[in-house]
Amino acid sequence: MSENKELNPTARFLMGPGPSDVHPCVLKAMATPLVGHLDPQFIEIMDGVKDMLRGLFRTENDLTFVVSATGSAGMETCFVNLLEPGDEALVCVNGVFGNRMCDIVERCGAKLVRVDAPWGQAIDPAQVKEALGKCSPKLVAIVHAETSTGVLQPLEEISELSRNAGALFLVDAVTSLGGTDVRIDDWGIDAVYSGTQKCISAPPGLSPVSFSSRAVEVMDNRKTKVQSWYLDLSMVRKYWSGAKRAYHHTAPISMIYGFYEAMRLIFEEGLEERFERHRRNHELLRDGLDDLGFEFLVAPQLRLPMLNAVKVPADVDEAAVRRRLLDEFNIEVGGGLGDFAGKLWRIGLMGCSCTQNHVNMLLMAIRRIF
Ligand SMILES: *Cc1c(COP(=O)(O)O)cnc(C)c1O
Repeated sequence: MSENKELNPTARFLMGPGPSDVHPCVLKAMATPLVGHLDPQFIEIMDGVKDMLRGLFRTENDLTFVVSATGSAGMETCFVNLLEPGDEALVCVNGVFGNRMCDIVERCGAKLVRVDAPWGQAIDPAQVKEALGKCSPKLVAIVHAETSTGVLQPLEEISELSRNAGALFLVDAVTSLGGTDVRIDDWGIDAVYSGTQKCISAPPGLSPVSFSSRAVEVMDNRKTKVQSWYLDLSMVRKYWSGAKRAYHHTAPISMIYGFYEAMRLIFEEGLEERFERHRRNHELLRDGLDDLGFEFLVAPQLRLPMLNAVKVPADVDEAAVRRRLLDEFNIEVGGGLGDFAGKLWRIGLMGCSCTQNHVNMLLMAIRRIF
């Protein structure tokens, strides 16, 4: 045992689909000495987390907090609390994360209706409209920023269609939150989950969530118990809100410290300024990649600024070049998933990884290798 070395991995520049680089202030916050998870000081920190998170989500929703696990647990939290066996759910699928939603819907014992679009394209509201003419789902679910393809999905029209059909509107904002506008109240979103390791630039481990009063009403009127004990919000809620905070599970104190500090830094920068920084660096990267012969997968008006999916020139062994970027330049970029494996790079410009220096460093490294 004694031959195990002290943890000291080489510093990397994280320019893949997440995690992203973390600000030193966040790492420092995570080293803050612990207090108990029911300590009045910690309750105050939780209140600060909820307050800043409402600002980030642009919502007044009372039920806004963080699930104690990664983004996928936030996804599961939304579905298992809103669906009961036999319910119907419509899921829009244009990438990996839409598929993951479908898997969870089926595990809930709910009836799944899929609306599919080719990977790299957005879901057309007309498709949703047509599907809603043939079913009456309890909820409609969609991914705002498809990290597997780099598509930014317009939400407002589909939200309105869902509402008019009497369905709740559930959105995956894992990659979008903190890097581009996400407006829960203005866009009529009833349930949303995100993650900490993408544009928020904290380590992975928490999933910010928020629920509208309509969604809370649906949860309050359940006939069956939520099948997951850990994610059952009827219990978790009593720890995160209310006058008397009751123990459910031990909150991951250090993670919450880090998330608190990451959000504080976001508001110090300003939301609009942060979104503008993501746009600007995306354009800088786009111009450089154009010159190097890379082609974007997604049409210009639907491109995510924080996740650039580009087709690698045909004569390039993409995996070998990515490996050299890591070994020789300490830069991590992501490969393609599914049908895009071996053909696509996914270059993240998320949060603290979204700087002019990151972009220039990557372009220079690719030029050296090519
Ligand atoms: C990363 C991601 C998830 C899953 O989050 P984990 O933190 O990996 O569990 C879900 N949806 C989208 C769009 C993502 O990018």
